[in-house]
Amino acid sequence: MMRPTTVASIYIETFGCQMNEADSQYIADRAASAGYLIAEKPEEANVVVLNTCTVRDNAERRAYGRMGHLKVLKEADPALKLVVMGCLAEQDRDRMQKIVPHVDAVFGTSELAQMGDAIAQWRPNFDDTDLTEERALLVPFGGAADCVTDAYSHLRGFVTVQRGCSYYCTFCIVPHVRGRFDHRPAAEIVREAEERVASGAREVMLVGQTVNAYKDPAGGSDFGDLCKRVAALPGLERLTFISPHPKDFTEKIIRDLAQVPQLNPRVHLPLQSGSDPVLRRMNRKYTMQQFREKVDLIHRYLPQWAITTDIIVGFPGESDADFEATLDYVKTGVFANAFMFIYSQRRGTPAARWEQVDAAVASERFKRLADAQNLASRAYHERKIGTVVRALVQGPSKKDAAKLAAKTPDNATVIAPMPPGYDEALYAREPWIDVQVHEGFIWGCTGTIVRRAERYADAGAPVQRPLIDLLAAQA
Ligand code: SF4
Repeated sequence: MMRPTTVASIYIETFGCQMNEADSQYIADRAASAGYLIAEKPEEANVVVLNTCTVRDNAERRAYGRMGHLKVLKEADPALKLVVMGCLAEQDRDRMQKIVPHVDAVFGTSELAQMGDAIAQWRPNFDDTDLTEERALLVPFGGAADCVTDAYSHLRGFVTVQRGCSYYCTFCIVPHVRGRFDHRPAAEIVREAEERVASGAREVMLVGQTVNAYKDPAGGSDFGDLCKRVAALPGLERLTFISPHPKDFTEKIIRDLAQVPQLNPRVHLPLQSGSDPVLRRMNRKYTMQQFREKVDLIHRYLPQWAITTDIIVGFPGESDADFEATLDYVKTGVFANAFMFIYSQRRGTPAARWEQVDAAVASERFKRLADAQNLASRAYHERKIGTVVRALVQGPSKKDAAKLAAKTPDNATVIAPMPPGYDEALYAREPWIDVQVHEGFIWGCTGTIVRRAERYADAGAPVQRPLIDLLAAQA
């Protein structure tokens, strides 16, 4: 159904990492303060924003594909503003409007504030517009809307702690499009986290490209100090962060993290490769010996924490022996989960100019690595069988609306049958559920909700089990 007339609205679609999600959240907040509604479909919006990513060739192609797709919408309603932001906008700012001239505006990664200003200035143009007349006959445009306020979206709040990265890994486009480190003052970060908590966030995620390299420009305090300051905010229940660099985990920071009970017990530690020659060519700034030492420190000070990772397969020059070293390390089961990718050439990065690994060889290696990690991920989730895990509700499962999805603090997905008399408003107020885990899979766990709690630390009240679940147990 088309939305009612005369209310200006903005649609935001986000590709890529949590950094982009945090930027989209900023734009949504600015648009909402300027009087826009957040639309669920592009065909219902006056301003359509694509927040783009260039980390892999595929992401870039998808973003251009989406811009092409949305041209029909622009032709049907020339008053609509189609805006591109994010890393691809930064990388292609000079040529984008030649490639896709129907795009109205392109904002680079350092122009968020200007973009917010422009959207606010456009707002009066959309008074008295009637979208239903102009667009009712268009086919749906699909896509996943971001920043739409549902009953649960306020429960998690992103806070950006730093922009850019100064490390120049040879495969990565980020420093080229987002620039060098630009750390926000700690006081500003704490203030923003406080605002998120005041607007209902139960969990705050500190976001940065290399988040644990954080240094307060005012006093030089580090990431461990920052976590302690944010965790001290009254009302903050859980704290988490993404994405750290192995090199920047000092023993001091890890000891600090161990003193913050609100921190979620999961650390993402991107390995990228298990071979020293490849790590050197990647300019990762650690050896396997040093990576293992970081893992040992985490095991020593944070013994309950899950470690997850990113791995690139088929990096230029990766030999069979290099790959086997990565595979052997993954087979130790050290990672609870891993995001694995076949190397993708990024224009403007050194590795794109080097001799590439044969595509068939890379995909065969990828399959072997995925098989090994899948065993470890399933085993990690199976270890939860028979236990009761506390998880933060995310809403009805995207695959099955008869089920509720939630995330445990160690970032495992849990899916459980909808409780009888499910009331969205009640679960948004009391969003912590205790799930008795029955099965573990590669992607997460299934189980049954046994309790619901208002606060993470509360004991919680019993929840009636779905009838179907009781019948299954009796069978
Ligand atoms: S640390 Fe490396 S991979 Fe991460 S953002 Fe910086 S350059 Fe890219």
